[in-house]
Amino acid sequence: MRVSVFGATGSIGESTFDLLSRRDDIKTVALTGGRNIERLAHQARSLSAQLAVTAYDDCYQELKQALSGSGIEVAAGTNALIAAAERPADWVMSAIVGAAGLAPGFRALAQGATLALANKESLVTAGPLLMREAARHNARILPVDSEHSAVFQALTGEEISAVERVIITASGGPFRGWSKEQLATATLAQAGTHPTWAMGQRITIDSASLFNKALELIETREYFGFNPDQIEVIIHPQSIIHALVGFRDGALMAHLGAPDMRHAIGYALNWPDRAALPVARLELAQLAQLSFEAPDAERFPALRLAREVMDLRGHSGAAFNASKEIALDQFIAGHIGFADMAVLVERTIDTLLSDSALTDAIEALETVEAMDQIARNTATRIAKQMA
Ligand code: NAD
Ligand code: MG
Repeated sequence: MRVSVFGATGSIGESTFDLLSRRDDIKTVALTGGRNIERLAHQARSLSAQLAVTAYDDCYQELKQALSGSGIEVAAGTNALIAAAERPADWVMSAIVGAAGLAPGFRALAQGATLALANKESLVTAGPLLMREAARHNARILPVDSEHSAVFQALTGEEISAVERVIITASGGPFRGWSKEQLATATLAQAGTHPTWAMGQRITIDSASLFNKALELIETREYFGFNPDQIEVIIHPQSIIHALVGFRDGALMAHLGAPDMRHAIGYALNWPDRAALPVARLELAQLAQLSFEAPDAERFPALRLAREVMDLRGHSGAAFNASKEIALDQFIAGHIGFADMAVLVERTIDTLLSDSALTDAIEALETVEAMDQIARNTATRIAKQMA
């Protein structure tokens, strides 16, 4: 099987690398990363990749040097990422973080590859376009988000029309019990520590604000086609149940597992088979208890904003994601507070409501990228007023 990994040096990328390293039937086509050249070069040598790409032009020389004598091709920059996605592969992992992951995944579908989609931003910003592109090229998208992989697995052999509701779980993050006043003072270090999952910095902070779950609500709608009112979020601090699917006969099928993304990645890698995976097995007696609570929309407005976006449709997902990315940048840079992120996203969407392009149906990648840029500019301007 020919495999490429986009975002190979990240948290999902390293877990993918771990699984690929255990197989002897893999031919690695392309691996891409950012500034962590040492890891990218190590992975490329270890998997005998054809091509290694850094997203940044100024890292080209370093990567070239690190791979000299290996016979591995080296490239840099955004266009090189696209060219890498156009190289024929059977299975492509999309694990770049942010809207930057959209274009490479889109190109991978055009050459008919199975797209293992960790980059949820692709579905949030351009869901209908991505699903259409997959259908057009007879390519498959397999979800690599723990909740969506869980729903996908619970749906095996079932009629979509028999589904009444879908429940995705959220750990609640490090600020689950915090008051509104406390949330306003939350620091970057506090937001960057997740109680149950080890992930990249950006998704970890998004988990603390529930923006990650907001993206996942939209992701669920776009991938499976359920109505927004069929999709629920429940806080489940142990992160053992990843999602549940409720059927019209009252049955509720839950997917349980240790919080280890190698399960969802491995499921997508082996699909439709189930192969042995190196993940911890649950000892239910040791877990002792699983608990649940309703999310608090007052303290965590992200879920409400996601529902507004699902009603607006069109390009509002692209605007939502882009303004969320700017809000996150501003929080990481120390310019705005933790609770200001949701305020900034809401003000950006409200401002863009006067732009008819916000709700126009998505036609092409270009219109998505245009709205992404407009939202970034708008959010940056509003952030300056807030700071
Ligand atoms: P990460 O920050 O650990 O890694 C991101 C990867 O993308 C790195 O290889 C980095 O070099 C690369 N990258 C960053 N910015 C880039 C850019 N502008 N252009 C090209 N490459 C760039 O992120 P992660 O936690 O592995 O998450 C990756 C994606 O998977 C995200 O969309 C995230 O929401 C999703 N996801 C992650 C997890 C998890 O457990 N980490 C779970 C579910 C979904
Ligand atoms: Mg998830």
